Amino acid sequence: MAPELAGKTALITGSTSGIGRATADALVALGAHVIISGRDTDRGNTAVQEIRSTGGNADFLAADLGNPASVRELANTAHTISGGHIDILINNAGIYPFGPTADFTDDQFDAVYDVNVKAPFILSGVLAPKMAERGHGAIVNISTGLATRGLRGAALYGSSKAAVELLTKAWAAEFGPAGVRVNAVSPGAIATEGTAPLGTNLNDMIAGAPAERLGRPDEIASGVAFLVSDAARYIHGVILPVDGGDGAV
Ligand code: NAP
Repeated sequence: MAPELAGKTALITGSTSGIGRATADALVALGAHVIISGRDTDRGNTAVQEIRSTGGNADFLAADLGNPASVRELANTAHTISGGHIDILINNAGIYPFGPTADFTDDQFDAVYDVNVKAPFILSGVLAPKMAERGHGAIVNISTGLATRGLRGAALYGSSKAAVELLTKAWAAEFGPAGVRVNAVSPGAIATEGTAPLGTNLNDMIAGAPAERLGRPDEIASGVAFLVSDAARYIHGVILPVDGGDGAV
């Protein structure tokens, strides 16, 4: 039997690192062709080499999601190199600066909203209608538990991901009738290259969580892989916590 995602192409933003990189491995294991994306060409090419060395199918497209023109170019080039069928879009890339509201400059605000909100908005706006024309597709947005909690220091980041959660539901309503399912995964505290500088502060964030430990990128990837699979065919507009139970207690 062919693997579940054989013949499908997935564009995964922020897949040169962390959760996105693990998601690429998870979708490759299900037979997908993955398009790795990020700004760092060295990390992108390394990811492609690693995937190809295991027999997987991957390509890298560099893009700066803080630049709308670069985001549009990513969408259009990914569409072209996929042979006209991006079947899966994972809006994973994100930046998460923490700090007091008054300390953020206008430019820092714009950078967070450009990468976390505007880039998914542009990518989904270009690619979801093309999926809809073909009658099928799956989009998974990566949110955070901080989208629904008023953690001190997380006003900017959390609010950007709250927008992503609303977009998830609005896009589910907009594109679902044409066969495109849109969902989100909400990770808890996950040990990645990006969170390494937080040190023990990251552990503090999961104090009291049922799993009593940090999560791993591959555990988030499992949630994403489920949501894009046929097993999730009746699931639209859900925000799936993959957080060791942190949001439940
Ligand atoms: P990470 O290790 O810092 O990786 C971030 C990825 O995003 C990298 O591949 C990076 O690629 C890409 N990226 C950042 N800015 C970009 C830009 N301007 N243009 C293009 N790509 C850009 O992040 P992570 O911890 O895996 O987090 C991934 C997602 O999960 C984010 O949306 C984050 O908010 C969310 N999340 C993470 C946690 C956690 O604890 N780790 C918890 C909840 C939610 P380049 O460096 O190559 O550009």
